[in-house]
Amino acid sequence: MKLTSVNPATGQKLHEYPSHPIAEVNSKIDQSHQAWLEWKNTSFEERAVLLNKMADLLLSRKEEFGLLMATEMGKPFREGVAEIEKCATCCTYYARHAKEHLRDQLIQTEASKSYVSFQPIGVVLAIMPWNFPFWQVFRFLAPALAAGNCGVLKHASNVPGCAVAIEEVVKQSGFPDHVFQTLLVGSAMVEKIMEHPFIQAVTLTGSTAAGKQVARKAGSLVKKSVLELGGSDAYIVLEDADLERAAETCVSSRLINNGQSCIAAKRFIVVEPVIEKFTNLFVDKMKAKKMGDPLDPATDIGPQARADLRDELHSQVQDSIAKGAKCKLGGEIPPGNHAFYPPTVLTNVTPGMPAYDEELFGPVAAIISAKDENDAIRIANDSMFGLGAAVFTSDPGKGEEIAATRLQAGSCFVNERVQSDSRLPFGGIRQSGYGRELGDFGIREFVNIKTVFIR
Ligand code: NDP
Repeated sequence: MKLTSVNPATGQKLHEYPSHPIAEVNSKIDQSHQAWLEWKNTSFEERAVLLNKMADLLLSRKEEFGLLMATEMGKPFREGVAEIEKCATCCTYYARHAKEHLRDQLIQTEASKSYVSFQPIGVVLAIMPWNFPFWQVFRFLAPALAAGNCGVLKHASNVPGCAVAIEEVVKQSGFPDHVFQTLLVGSAMVEKIMEHPFIQAVTLTGSTAAGKQVARKAGSLVKKSVLELGGSDAYIVLEDADLERAAETCVSSRLINNGQSCIAAKRFIVVEPVIEKFTNLFVDKMKAKKMGDPLDPATDIGPQARADLRDELHSQVQDSIAKGAKCKLGGEIPPGNHAFYPPTVLTNVTPGMPAYDEELFGPVAAIISAKDENDAIRIANDSMFGLGAAVFTSDPGKGEEIAATRLQAGSCFVNERVQSDSRLPFGGIRQSGYGRELGDFGIREFVNIKTVFIR
């Protein structure tokens, strides 16, 4: 079997990568376990040196990797370069903070000494998606290696070039052989990999459907799982919001990575008194975005990552229109052999439409009308997902109250788009998954939280 890179801007096949047969996969996992037996004994200081080197190496190759992502999955080149810079920041963050995040915690009991110690657990399997082909991997990889674990990566089948490049970066940074390896396999092999006795845990970022299958298997094996799944983030626009700024932020969040981000704004819930004005601003700003070659610096939106995903998105749009949504912009596939989909705005979106109920993983915005603030919050929470949410208002106190206590999601922002940040925990509730990545919570997901008690 082969994994194939296809340029979604042209439909052209770029490269084929022979996949790894199961015997090779098993021996790679054995090698990673052997590497872990040494790696777990290294000090935080030694790991930090290598993580900092990796950050430098990433920065020195950021244009090359930006180009790789642009051609393999259509990300605009400048967004790809920014993604690599963010990966470097994650490496330096854990180089600096892993030790303090995993420091022993003394707890007073009747013992002469009792404490909690955070110990590495071994080889963790990472199943990763194509949308941020470097960042999704690094936000697992940097804390995993910093904690003294080893990792094997099963990347999405359409980004094998990125998967191979990441393994190479780890090696070139001077990490010992096999502490991190890429397995070139399709998803059909995942269950077998999870059964390997040296795989201790699994983390998946991707669709809720894939997450459910992996979680089921992990449960049957009693192996820990962390799931970062889809989202349909609601952005609430209240009457007192700065509409110009809100529309700008909403558009930029909707279009990040050609609209293919789990924490992109997807549902725009606007109170009635300002919905017309907001919609006009929003449509104008969406219209101004330039779709085109991801390598052209003037391009805001490249193609979707795969033609089949673009077609799925289009059928969600058509189904929503058939059920009564109004298409204010876009909504048509341009001719040609590629995976482009234009910025699209749907209004009059109501329950029962895919644009209301499902995740739209592309540059399609659903504008939903709310009677007032309470109604807007009710609609925002009326979702099977719960990854991120945002509220726009000129009253910071009210914004904080809504974000902190009334919106049901893993990350709630006020007057700002939801973003991941190495310093802050990231993850969802409900069908958006469980567990956290990043920050101190992220590095503690894959450790043995060990109690030590000395009489
Ligand atoms: P998938 O969830 O299918 O793919 C994500 C990763 O999971 C890939 O590595 C994939 O491997 C793997 N995978 C898929 N199915 C299984 C399975 N049954 N067992 C184990 N691993 C599996 O996403 P798609 O690429 O098909 O995209 C479909 C939708 O998923 C999108 O439209 C979007 O809604 C959502 N998605 C969400 C992402 C997020 O950031 N939360 C990222 C990507 C997609 P392989 O590529 O070999 O199939």
